[in-house]
Amino acid sequence: MHVTAIIAAAGSGRRLGSAKPKQMLDIGGGSMLQHSLKAFLAHPRISEVIVVLPPGPAAIVVDGVDPSRLQAMRAVTGGERRQDSVANAFDQVAASSDVVLIHDAARPFVSAALIDRTIDAAMTHGAAIAAVQSRDTVKRVERQPEGTVIVDTIPREGVYLAQTPQGFRRAVLAAAVAVGRSGVDATDEAMLAERAGYLVHVVDGDPGNVKITTAEDLEAARQRMGTAGQTPGLSRVGTGYDLHRLVEGRPLVIGGVTIPSDRGALAHSDGDVACHAATDAILGAASLGDIGRHFPDSDPRWKDINSLVLLREAARMVREQGYEIGNIDVTVILERPKIKDVIEEMRSRMAGAMGIDPACVSLKGKTNEGVDAVGRGEAIAAHAIALLQRA
Ligand code: MG
Repeated sequence: MHVTAIIAAAGSGRRLGSAKPKQMLDIGGGSMLQHSLKAFLAHPRISEVIVVLPPGPAAIVVDGVDPSRLQAMRAVTGGERRQDSVANAFDQVAASSDVVLIHDAARPFVSAALIDRTIDAAMTHGAAIAAVQSRDTVKRVERQPEGTVIVDTIPREGVYLAQTPQGFRRAVLAAAVAVGRSGVDATDEAMLAERAGYLVHVVDGDPGNVKITTAEDLEAARQRMGTAGQTPGLSRVGTGYDLHRLVEGRPLVIGGVTIPSDRGALAHSDGDVACHAATDAILGAASLGDIGRHFPDSDPRWKDINSLVLLREAARMVREQGYEIGNIDVTVILERPKIKDVIEEMRSRMAGAMGIDPACVSLKGKTNEGVDAVGRGEAIAAHAIALLQRA
């Protein structure tokens, strides 16, 4: 089955008092539009995504989606009204498409389950929209000179609040778009489908699938992102591990300190396992990848580099993401020589590189009791764990 998703993001809505249209505002971990796009691009049943943008230059970055999926995305320019925008997008829908979903970019919390329900209902019934039953009693009112007065109470059982996605078999949406082009004004595609003579089915919407309209909505969305684990929370931990072979004729550098030894680490850099494990731990805590990604050993810039420089750079990168390093604990596993006399110096150098108090850096030396390659003195290894805190 071929399913197309149209993401309506052409509105110029500046009710939130920003210079940008509201769907471009950041809610944590990206704009509303980016979150909405990601929800559909990451959904296994969506074959193509057409995003409708305001006129003018646009570059959309969607993180956290398999890069191959980005080929499934295209952009079209919107029209004057929402229905014009959807009509422009509909012209680009693949001829082989079975179901077309339309979703408002300003509903960034759409769930995969709701997308599934809408696809299934659209396929079965021809037209379906997500909607939630009103939780409040609904009053019809009239404005009169003395104030607003109730003229009717509508049983809430019969009142549903429309959300998106709205889903249609391709032919049904074609008929709805044609009605729209004939001059009918509509607030959504479901209304055009009704006018085209189709029964539109309701699937259970999701109370969390809110439309962000007001400044309060925006603030609530940002708080939700901060606590939902989709963006970094207050504290994060990461682990790091490193091992290097020990060979003759190389210096032995640990925690930025060169230790007299007949053997040293075989490495592109200085082979400092304590710094490498610590670097991986802090990068890992911020989900920033690992040391090999940022300082590849194929890059001559890092040849014989003092690994304190890498540790300093990793600390800078996590600060750029809004974190401070809380503490870090490193265990170095080495058969000989003993390192206990230089541990304070190592802590102080590593702390200096990270720009934190040496009291927040722990470094411990262990032997491997003669067991395995580390125990035979053929290698040196280190483990590290780091805690990051929102600055
Ligand atoms: Mg290493």
